[in-house]
Amino acid sequence: MVKKKFGKGSRVCRRCGTHGALIRQYDLLVCRRCFREVAQKIGFKKCG
Ligand SMILES: [Zn+2]
Repeated sequence: MVKKKFGKGSRVCRRCGTHGALIRQYDLLVCRRCFREVAQKIGFKKCG
């Protein structure tokens, strides 16, 4: 087994630190909730 630096749950939201569903697109690495906020700031078009 390989040890990971961040231990359990290495992937967390960079904004709120939640362990929920993360969006890895565009290297954002934020959860779905934060993604919506970030998406607006970066001018991401709403889909759906
Ligand atoms: Zn978040």
